[in-house]
Amino acid sequence: MLIRTVQIHSPANQSKVSQIKEFLVEYNRCVNYFIRRLWAEKKFTGRFLDKKYIQDAKDKFNLTARLIQCAGKQAQQIVKSQREKSFSQRTMPRFKVLMADLDGRFWKFGDNTKSFEWLVLQSGFKVLIPFKRTKMWTKWEGRGFTLSNSIRLKYDEGSLTLEFFFEKEKPPLKPTGAVEGIDLGYVNTITCTNGQVIGAGMNKVIESFSKREKHTHEQIKNRIFHELKSLNISNVKKLAIENLKSVKSNTRGKFSRKRNRRLSHWLYAKVVERLARRCEEEGVRLVSVSPWKTSQYCRFCNNWDRRNRKGEVFKCVVCGHTDHADMNGAMNIKLLGLAEAYSLRSLPSNFMGVRNECL
Ligand SMILES: [Zn+2]
Repeated sequence: MLIRTVQIHSPANQSKVSQIKEFLVEYNRCVNYFIRRLWAEKKFTGRFLDKKYIQDAKDKFNLTARLIQCAGKQAQQIVKSQREKSFSQRTMPRFKVLMADLDGRFWKFGDNTKSFEWLVLQSGFKVLIPFKRTKMWTKWEGRGFTLSNSIRLKYDEGSLTLEFFFEKEKPPLKPTGAVEGIDLGYVNTITCTNGQVIGAGMNKVIESFSKREKHTHEQIKNRIFHELKSLNISNVKKLAIENLKSVKSNTRGKFSRKRNRRLSHWLYAKVVERLARRCEEEGVRLVSVSPWKTSQYCRFCNNWDRRNRKGEVFKCVVCGHTDHADMNGAMNIKLLGLAEAYSLRSLPSNFMGVRNECL
């Protein structure tokens, strides 16, 4: 199942916000009460909460039995995920946020008014929470996702947030289509072997930022994400990308200057995450391959040489093949995707056959 989240800030007035905060504080206390009991009695895995727990909680908290059960369920999940962590982190967890996961029994949509839509919270009390559907809501609906009946209600620093979840069956992987490669190249560009280049001109944008500017990273990310939408993978069945995790840092403990000029690791991770989601939704198999020598390798004569690459230009010193350096890298990544090989070191001996598909 694919799940997408839509967060919506509610413009509820102060008295309503504090009413909900009060409920969430009580709910939080109840969750922590269950966590303490489950932890103390080493009940880490059970599916159902002890009836006695519920009975005891009824006397302690100003919540309906249903909400107490709901808090119990949340406590069980928190305890369970804490137990799955590494040994040193297995101390009793604490539920620190003011947040409730509420299923369809606790809420419904109210009638729309001119300026807002309304969410009706109901369980022992009734509160109407105003909100407005966002673009993301329409986007996921448009892509065939359906609204889940579970919502998340959050309070943080005076602000109330509703979180909606959209679900969709994972589509099967496409059986037919093209194999393409993507190079996360120099100065924040993303080059795809289908000819699309994302982030061209980004260099100039980055130079216009002052180095100390706080939001630079976020701004670059937003621009890249915006452009990434135009990447067309509708006829692609497999997409190969570089696994930059395998790139070792140099002796000074930092990434080499060449790497620094590429997408920052932070941004790289974000782009990969975004690509992975796109692929998931469109039934495209995403494979990550080793970037080892992909920028220096010439697939025409099966030779690699440091001198093959000079900045943006690739020119093979043996056969003279010339290409844009990023496109050459992307093609070599595509070659690995076609050959089902992780690294140029492990290309099968018959790879020349698949090579013909990316000349
Ligand atoms: Zn060559």
